[in-house]
Amino acid sequence: MTSTCHTHDAHMTPSQTAIDAQRPGVSEHPPTGLPANPPADPSARPLLDVQQLRGGYGQVEVLRGISLQVRAGEIVALLGSNGAGKTTLNHMLSGLVPTTGGHVFFDGQELTHRHYREVVQAGLIQVPEGRRIFPNLNVLENLELGAYTRGRERRAANLAKVFSIFPRLLERRTQKAGTLSGGEQQMLAIGRGLMAEPVLLILDEPSLGLSPLLVEEMFGLIRRLHEDGLAVLLVEQNVGQSLEIADRAYVMENGSLRFEGTPAQLLASAELKQAYLGL
Ligand code: ATP
Repeated sequence: MTSTCHTHDAHMTPSQTAIDAQRPGVSEHPPTGLPANPPADPSARPLLDVQQLRGGYGQVEVLRGISLQVRAGEIVALLGSNGAGKTTLNHMLSGLVPTTGGHVFFDGQELTHRHYREVVQAGLIQVPEGRRIFPNLNVLENLELGAYTRGRERRAANLAKVFSIFPRLLERRTQKAGTLSGGEQQMLAIGRGLMAEPVLLILDEPSLGLSPLLVEEMFGLIRRLHEDGLAVLLVEQNVGQSLEIADRAYVMENGSLRFEGTPAQLLASAELKQAYLGL
């Protein structure tokens, strides 16, 4: 692994842990069938390159100079306690919260200050915290809306692929989304994101509110998507499982980054684990 370890207020000693050893090289699951992206190339220009991003709500500056990268094919975990600014960062990446400084480059173009639709068109797709499905539309209608801005031409084929990943959604395709269980709603939110053919998928707290069994399934799914080559920025409170599947991690606190490096490097720091991860 070529990642550098970087802390702002703690010294780290890079070391290998069981986390690296646990990462399987071979999938136990069938491929998802979604369009495959090229595998991670550490020397390549990052797919997502966030440079010194600042911004917030009105006069309140929440992000105070965030620099973060996701390379093609990587899973990057973004960790931090409640209120650290993770969701605000996601909203800024999607053009939903104004940027007052810094830059966002994605897949060869600058997306800073771009409209939400242009961000989606570029393939930077978010599955927001709280799922944000349309409760009065049925499952099929929710999924089809996922292809409204991007992926329209291949909507039928992508729908078939989403149903093959989530057979439960096929069973419930005519059911109103608001009547689905929490786990099914999370599947629907991710399925809707996949309908837009993501180049980078941002998942904001996908395991929130799920039973332990469904959490396992959710992380298994993220691993499968990754094995198909999809790049994922994973925002999670579930630190342990996120670090098991992540290639690299960032820890955010009060709108600034406190750490960037590999899961092994992060887990080697008792100070960081205790201060920011509750481990
Ligand atoms: P959580 O996991 O609890 O969502 P987070 O790391 O995603 O935490 P944010 O939701 O980005 O954190 O919140 C960062 C800061 O921004 C908090 O202090 C929060 O109160 C503030 N904030 C969030 N949304 C708004 C808003 N719409 N208007 C004003 N302040 C906000």
